Amino acid sequence: MSDHAVTEKADDIVVCDACPVLCRIRLGKTGACDRYGNVDGKLARLDPMLVAEQVAARSGAMVPFLEGDWSGELLRDAGAFVTGIGAGTTYPDYKPAPFIVASQHRDIDMVTVVTEGIFSYCGLKLKIDTDRFVGPEQAAVRCKGEQVGHVTTAEYGSQMLALGGVRHLTGGSKKEGVVTCDTLLTLCNKGAVELAVDGGATMTVQAGEAPVINGAREERMRVGCGSATIGIFARQWHGHVDEVIVVDDHITGVLSEHQAGRFLGLSPAGIRVRGKKSTPGRYFQVANPGLGWGGTDVQDPLTIIEKIDPKSARPGLRLLMVSTTGEDSGYFVLDDALKPVPAAMPAAVAKVVERIGENCEPALTSVLFMAGAGGSLRAGVTENPIRLTRSIKQSLVRVTSGGAPVYVWPGGGITYMVDVLLMPDNAFGYVPTPAIVGPIEFTMRLTDYQALGGHMDHVRELADVIQEPRVKRTGWRDKNPWPLEP
Ligand code: SF4
Repeated sequence: MSDHAVTEKADDIVVCDACPVLCRIRLGKTGACDRYGNVDGKLARLDPMLVAEQVAARSGAMVPFLEGDWSGELLRDAGAFVTGIGAGTTYPDYKPAPFIVASQHRDIDMVTVVTEGIFSYCGLKLKIDTDRFVGPEQAAVRCKGEQVGHVTTAEYGSQMLALGGVRHLTGGSKKEGVVTCDTLLTLCNKGAVELAVDGGATMTVQAGEAPVINGAREERMRVGCGSATIGIFARQWHGHVDEVIVVDDHITGVLSEHQAGRFLGLSPAGIRVRGKKSTPGRYFQVANPGLGWGGTDVQDPLTIIEKIDPKSARPGLRLLMVSTTGEDSGYFVLDDALKPVPAAMPAAVAKVVERIGENCEPALTSVLFMAGAGGSLRAGVTENPIRLTRSIKQSLVRVTSGGAPVYVWPGGGITYMVDVLLMPDNAFGYVPTPAIVGPIEFTMRLTDYQALGGHMDHVRELADVIQEPRVKRTGWRDKNPWPLEP
């Protein structure tokens, strides 16, 4: 049962005070978020509370889902970590966190403060490994017609979306808030959502899976920009072709003009591509963004050739045009009129095109949850919240989310990011305020906890906490650092 106060009891109704919605829950029913229910007239957190166990810390071996009786002694020896998943909430934290767990690590007394944070200030950063045009920067990203975020600055080989945030959760219509919350929750829990970008693509995205853009599943993340591709493969092309143009939405590379070509003793071949010349052999804006070659709207690569200069070009010149993933390629030979004529690609050239593909990584969608834990949540940890913030900045406190490592942003507050794939499945919930509920744990030495004004009278032994009937055991994800390790 939850130790939340039952603030009202009449006709077997209990009032949940785990969030500001204050659901009045009838016997046998659940509250609006389905996380709490009225069990035998008492308020209960219904989901299991996840304890991740590192068995035989000495060998580092993992044993997922231990079966049978489970003694506290075994756990202490093995290394158990009480995650915030299913721990319960105390928002707005006028009470200590649901679990403040004492344990030992390398003979040092440690404490982990465990809670489920209710985050109105939260969102997702999606990194979608594709060059395909998903929509203009700043364009609205919609789910079920509601704006849930926007397209933000593209990164190297990836399109980026910023979803959620307090404005979409609370600043628009009720429907916008609900759909935003639902979208975040699905993605956080590793589910798939369909998104549509104003003036751009529709796509299906899911953490750890290839994005599907306008119905086409993306296979490859590009090897690099056009210029980088020239740099990487110039030597391998040398002697087999006279010119290579790597078509890219951002930086199209032209071998014979490029520094890499110069290094190999090539002189400009006289094939001038459209767009703005940046530095030798590097061109911007050769076409519009799109779903064609190299993230451009190009379907016929010859359309990006502006002119062929007879002073430098010659009949018989061998030209390769290729995209940054190697998925699109064409081989041409200039005829007597200096017109590129398609020809069979020699095996040695095809081999390098293949190698571009071999050097591409699988295209994936990465989902990072970002939230601010610098508000009232801190009061569940200490009666003097600024000390928690300072202790995190001083690296005295390790912050984890469902046991997964987080990155805490510099500057004020406790703004953190976590890769949802490093977390156990279904680690997130929601409340209809609307806000996302996410697990968070603060681990530190017991002496440091005391020094920062921790709720010492609420500290419970690990061996005691793990006897809670709701506890569910799982194996520790061995790639995550052990949170109690200094
Ligand atoms: S929404 Fe959930 S946490 Fe909030 S009061 Fe209702 S049952 Fe409790």
